[in-house]
Amino acid sequence: MIPPPLARLHDLLPAETASAAETRALGARLAEALGPGLTVALFGDLGAGKTQLVKGIASAFGVPPETVNSPTFTLVNEYAGRDFPIYHIDAYRIRSVDEFFEFGYEDYFFGEGLCLIEWPERIAPLLPEDALRLRLTHLGGDRRRIAPEGAAQP
Ligand code: ADP
Ligand code: MG
Repeated sequence: MIPPPLARLHDLLPAETASAAETRALGARLAEALGPGLTVALFGDLGAGKTQLVKGIASAFGVPPETVNSPTFTLVNEYAGRDFPIYHIDAYRIRSVDEFFEFGYEDYFFGEGLCLIEWPERIAPLLPEDALRLRLTHLGGDRRRIAPEGAAQP
């Protein structure tokens, strides 16, 4: 049986959005199924909307979306959510799994907060087995598809 929070995710996904605002709104709704101790892996090319989705998720936990930005140079941004921290990782610049290992990834993947990671393919072997894997796809113009990774394309 699918546990209730994830069942809710399956009600919402796959989804198509037509603007960044719609992607943020979807993120806020997805957040109802998310919480501390979970890692969400956001797959998708540059401009697919990963950071917009993170803004929406974080906003549901009390983080002002304008404070959420890709931590491309810092590797991780930590935001103070209402009840727990939110770790926002961007692995784009990670050169090797070893580098990520040395960076102390366990504190984020297995920490007290909710962990949201962009470019998770860079560190695939270290992703927790129970990570929620989502794929964002650019459909042209402002349209984006957000689906569980591995879901059949329409
Ligand atoms: P990523 O983090 O995947 O590189 P971003 O979220 O930073 O992508 O950027 C997505 C860009 O695309 C933003 O400039 C955003 O305004 C724009 N955009 C247009 N339509 C959408 C949409 N439907 N969902 C998300 N972003 C969109
Ligand atoms: Mg980004």
